Amino acid sequence: MEQAIESVLFSEEQLSQITGRLAEAINAAYAGRTVVVVGVLKGSFIFLADLFRRLTMPCELDFMAASSYGNQTTSTGFLNITKDLTADIAGKDVLLVEDIVDTGNTLSYIKEYLLTKGPESVRICTLFDKPSRRKKSITVEYVGAEIEDLFIVGYGLDFAEHYRNLPYVGILKPEIYQS
Ligand code: 5GP
Ligand code: MG
Repeated sequence: MEQAIESVLFSEEQLSQITGRLAEAINAAYAGRTVVVVGVLKGSFIFLADLFRRLTMPCELDFMAASSYGNQTTSTGFLNITKDLTADIAGKDVLLVEDIVDTGNTLSYIKEYLLTKGPESVRICTLFDKPSRRKKSITVEYVGAEIEDLFIVGYGLDFAEHYRNLPYVGILKPEIYQS
């Protein structure tokens, strides 16, 4: 195991099972429709790649990125869109794909923004959810796994831009945060 990881929360195999279950539910819900899948960068990119290849309906792919204004540690709910859609989503079914929903600020902001573009529908799929941390109430249609109030890394999720390349999801050793 990577030196910085205290414990593994989700193995590669567990992540694959979770992604498979999510894909099944999404395939059933959107059968016969065309979906614009929108990944929220950067954390979702590995999960999205695994989920996307399991989708069986006609799919378009796009990305968005947003960052908090100012101090990253205080979640104000005001975000800056740093990468906008290129697809026209008017009249289309949109599936937003995120790595983790924490306070809910990011996804509620992005969803409100997408709704101004006149889509037919906007649903949310997240790999992980930390419901105990929620500040903005937001409907998340597809949740891979709920977790405690822990900071996790790997499988796309970072700490200071590192550890995204771990193939599993784990918890960092406390000394990594403190150094
Ligand atoms: P929210 O706006 O819901 O508070 O925050 C969502 C974003 O915070 C996620 O997309 C993710 O980038 C980051 N985040 C929240 N919890 C974690 C975590 O446990 N690990 C990592 N790596 N990022 C997290
Ligand atoms: Mg994210």
